[in-house]
Amino acid sequence: MYDYLVVGAGLYGAVIAHEMKKAGKSVLVIDKRPNIAGNVYTEEIEGINVHKYGAHIFHTNNKSVWNYVNQFAEFNRFTNSPVANYHGELYSLPFNMYTFNKMWGVVTPEEAEAKIEEQKRSLGITEPKNLEEQAISLVGTDIYEKLIKGYTEKQWGRPCDQLPAFIIKRLPVRFTFDNNYFNALYQGIPIGGYTKMVANMLEGIEIQLGIDYLENKQEYDKIAETVIYTGAIDAYFGFKLGTLEYRSVRFETEVLDKPNFQGNAAVNYTDAETPWTRIIEHKWFEFGTQLKTVISREYSSEWTPGEEPYYPVNDEKNGKMYEEYKRLSENEKKVIFGGRLGEYKYYDMDKVIESALKKSDELLSI
Ligand code: UDP
Repeated sequence: MYDYLVVGAGLYGAVIAHEMKKAGKSVLVIDKRPNIAGNVYTEEIEGINVHKYGAHIFHTNNKSVWNYVNQFAEFNRFTNSPVANYHGELYSLPFNMYTFNKMWGVVTPEEAEAKIEEQKRSLGITEPKNLEEQAISLVGTDIYEKLIKGYTEKQWGRPCDQLPAFIIKRLPVRFTFDNNYFNALYQGIPIGGYTKMVANMLEGIEIQLGIDYLENKQEYDKIAETVIYTGAIDAYFGFKLGTLEYRSVRFETEVLDKPNFQGNAAVNYTDAETPWTRIIEHKWFEFGTQLKTVISREYSSEWTPGEEPYYPVNDEKNGKMYEEYKRLSENEKKVIFGGRLGEYKYYDMDKVIESALKKSDELLSI
């Protein structure tokens, strides 16, 4: 018997497993993939740590979370500054004075604010009700049309006026010349890759890979007092209340025989015509000096069962269905649901860690 069975070796599972082991509990971690680290998994190709399930840049304002992850890895000084490519025109992200200058030729913050105000006023938006209105309120129609609409509709597969406003509020808008994508005090990439960081969290803990919990549920439930389930909540219940919507991502990864493809870790293709949403050049997360480079084109698609779910579609309809699943989950006395899929939440890494640490404290204080 184990005290805890942790289903899923991603960040949420790894943090809880680590905390329980530290408190003297017996822990078994299982994952259906052949590797640990969930979607933060990195794999070395040509000496470059490739983010196999999409780019992950650690950023947080929470000092205790920052100190926590620094126990398991040293972080480099990477600062995320993606570039937007709109039909070959390049713009700085997040939206800042460089972006406004390139878009309108404005030079001062007052000029930029006046331009946005004028575009916003012409549409008469007071209370933004959806992503489109929110975006126009923040940056005006030109930036919305060139840098947001196409990207967002490719990324989410839904029109911007049918998406929740909060998605766009993830991005800062600044009237300064600051290309740092995140408003975060602490930021970086773990030196040696995320896989190594998660392996350090799981050190000394028994792990079984290639095991599908839902297919072997009865057997695995018998061997633990408590189950920490980090898979999709609707899948746990056999989709009996319906299927929650997710977006999936497909990556086309290529090794190129040149040292520099795009000169930046992330270039977002913000027009509607380019089929991919962004290209990641992995070496630039780590200031790579290799002779070759590895790039991944990201294609976004609607998730269908059997594929990897990435982004929960946190709109009203799915929110309601999730609440019903959550109610069901409260009757599963020995199972705790957590993480991006278990809580159906567009979590960043630091928030996942925060939530796993909180849950660990709760479990240990019972
Ligand atoms: N977004 C956009 N243009 C960009 C980058 C982002 O319109 O060039 C919007 C898009 O709707 C996206 C959201 O901002 O879903 C959040 O972007 P973020 O970079 O936080 O997404 P993630 O890295 O989690 O995919």
